[in-house]
Amino acid sequence: MSQRRYRILLLVCVFVCIYSLCLACQPARRPLANQPELLSTELEQICGGYDQARMLGHIRELTSPAYEGRAVGTEGERQVAAYLTSQLALWQLKPWTELGLTDFRHSFSVQKTKIRGQNVIAVRRGTTDQWILLVAHYDHLGVKHSTLYPGADDNAAGVAILLETARCVALAPQAPQHNVAFVLTSGEERNLSGSKALAALLRRQGLAQRCRVVNMDMMGGTGGNSLDVWREPSRPSGRQLVRQVRQIITDAGLKSNVVRRRFGAVDSRSFARAGMPSVTLSWAYQVRYHPHRHQTTDTFDELRPELLRKAAQGILRIVWLLANTS
Ligand SMILES: [Zn+2]
Repeated sequence: MSQRRYRILLLVCVFVCIYSLCLACQPARRPLANQPELLSTELEQICGGYDQARMLGHIRELTSPAYEGRAVGTEGERQVAAYLTSQLALWQLKPWTELGLTDFRHSFSVQKTKIRGQNVIAVRRGTTDQWILLVAHYDHLGVKHSTLYPGADDNAAGVAILLETARCVALAPQAPQHNVAFVLTSGEERNLSGSKALAALLRRQGLAQRCRVVNMDMMGGTGGNSLDVWREPSRPSGRQLVRQVRQIITDAGLKSNVVRRRFGAVDSRSFARAGMPSVTLSWAYQVRYHPHRHQTTDTFDELRPELLRKAAQGILRIVWLLANTS
């Protein structure tokens, strides 16, 4: 072999080696088309890791008098934010750096006040530039006239399910296709201020068009046994998201209605108005099914653990399937 040919052969070999190394170092990507068998195996693993006792423990913690009812801007809110941050830090989740965040805290102002609140956000990275947001507000009404409002159903239950979902998704060996952001908002009870601030930030950073939002509120099972999907009108339309979420809930063997929001405002409204397809999940939407809403009687003992378990299993499926389909 001539020296020239030898050099060319050597160069080709070096190129092939470098190319192979680059391929090996890339995160595993799967096509967006569904792979039902792979997905169902992953789902079994993820749902199998769900820990009901751990989830209930979060609700007991969050409704403790130590957190003073978790009103935005209070010492109780700051302490519960520290608890949430410490939990999320256990599972190798990351800050949402595209939002300019260097840790899990996102501070905001409550409109027309000097009150500052903190959202808590952690991310499991995927392999595309799309985002699934799982949202639950952790603030509540606080202490009024020396009486504690524990807010177990509204919304310690949703927060506990989010934390347990975050743990299960973080520990999944296979990265999801899309990024998953676990978003714990504050200031929901003060004009949705935390979610409004986050939605505005997502727009400013050019991320809103790549986000789909699943919000949870009143997941404690005090209201009926239908895991309802509250539809928020948005542009672009969230109808496809509604259909997907409803189908997953039905496939999980749960009853579900699709309804227009019937009372109060929930965080999904903030995201929908900023152009993100958004839904809120709740056990039964009618007011009459939530007699303890915004009452001092919204306590841990009123929750129905078996419905909490079903809701959590449904949420795990929703998050993992949305994060792995277009
Ligand atoms: Zn609520």
